Amino acid sequence: MAQEKKIFGDLVKDVADRNLCVSCGTCVAVCPVNVIELEEGLPRLVGDCIECGLCYANCPRTNFSVDEMDEAIHGRTRKESEQLTGIYSAVYAARTRREDIREKAQDGGVVTSLLSQFIEDGGDAVIVAGLEEDKIWAPSPLIAKDKENVIESAGTKYTSSPTLVGVKKAVKEEKLGNIAVVGTACQMRGLSRLTQGKSRNKRFTDSVGLRVGLFCMETFNYGDFMDYLESNGVDLGKVTKFEIKSGRFYAYEGDEVAHRARLKKVKALVRPCCHRCDDFTSEFADVSVGNVGSPGGWSTVIVRTERGEKAIMSAAESGLIELAPIDDFDVGETLVHRLAKMKKDNALDK
Ligand SMILES: Cc1cc2nc3c(=O)[nH]c(=O)nc-3n(C[C@H](O)[C@H](O)[C@H](O)COP(=O)(O)OP(=O)(O)OC[C@H]3O[C@@H](n4cnc5c(N)ncnc54)[C@H](O)[C@@H]3O)c2cc1C
Ligand code: SF4
Ligand code: SF4
Ligand code: SF4
Repeated sequence: MAQEKKIFGDLVKDVADRNLCVSCGTCVAVCPVNVIELEEGLPRLVGDCIECGLCYANCPRTNFSVDEMDEAIHGRTRKESEQLTGIYSAVYAARTRREDIREKAQDGGVVTSLLSQFIEDGGDAVIVAGLEEDKIWAPSPLIAKDKENVIESAGTKYTSSPTLVGVKKAVKEEKLGNIAVVGTACQMRGLSRLTQGKSRNKRFTDSVGLRVGLFCMETFNYGDFMDYLESNGVDLGKVTKFEIKSGRFYAYEGDEVAHRARLKKVKALVRPCCHRCDDFTSEFADVSVGNVGSPGGWSTVIVRTERGEKAIMSAAESGLIELAPIDDFDVGETLVHRLAKMKKDNALDK
């Protein structure tokens, strides 16, 4: 018997109403009649639904099959040694050689370097997390077309950016044919469905030239995060950077620490959808980048696909980044593996 097609109402019931929506915007991007918008981070119908089922089929939170996506991207399923981290071809410690990128970047500046190189190599634009003009520290997708805009958007925002809404704008509205996208693991899952899944959309498949995934343990609820900072006397207008390292959360004003707290204290700010997420390393990106597993000022880089390898090598060959091998990754006992396991175990518990 044919399976009943699930449509927008089912998306609301199965994802949004169950606190599983990650606010990625994949449903917004894929809807062929453009009748989905995100309101307060949740999908809302703003026109007549033609009941095609594409929003449900492409959402990263509905029946996402790891094996199916591994097969679609790599032509094979993962080996035992790749269960926690996803399929990869090489792992490096890396950092930028450019001072202007280092100054703005969160860690090793590898992501900004890769994205700058993508534009240098002829890419039309990169979709990064910029900031809304009239809402302090609220991330918003930005279609960056030059290196200055890419560098300006460097640094980690610990609340969610609806990245796929930016992808939709770039591909459907601006008709850009070669873009790179940076995002968290959940956003990479939406993007991989949209470009390589069973119900993919050819326009997006053809236009997305590089997926750069970030390691991600959690994001905070925007309103709760802002309230928390204000109630702890942090002047939001003066904050230049947020950071989580070695079990603590930091807010900086330039070189000064404006606020510091044990991670336990800010755990209550974490969005409910993140408690059910089992992907730490952005397993479905072309290349994934995080800070754990490498010394301070360096990034850990997991190369997964041929285009990921090409992007890394292009940035290295042009002198933008330096690379050092991480030899013990295959053994499976690095901090990256430990945190990836913890995230998978915690998600199963919920
Ligand atoms: C919410 C979040 C949680 C993270 N948690 C961890 C963690 O637990 N462990 C770990 O090792 N690494 C984590 N990271 C990754 C880490 O913070 C750095 O992004 C990564 O090490 C790359 O550093 P970089 O200097 O190369 O990046 P940069 O050169 O500074 O570039 C970072 C890029 O990420 C984009 N970006 C920033 N915030 C967001 C966002 N919210 N959504 C989409 N894109 C965004 C920026 O626009 C920029 O292009 C997290 C990142 C995010 C966004
Ligand atoms: S038209 Fe298709 S993609 Fe758009 S809301 Fe309806 S079911 Fe979802
Ligand atoms: S596609 Fe993304 S924004 Fe849309 S319902 Fe699913 S998780 Fe939420
Ligand atoms: S923890 Fe998972 S669901 Fe939450 S922002 Fe990170 S990748 Fe997305």
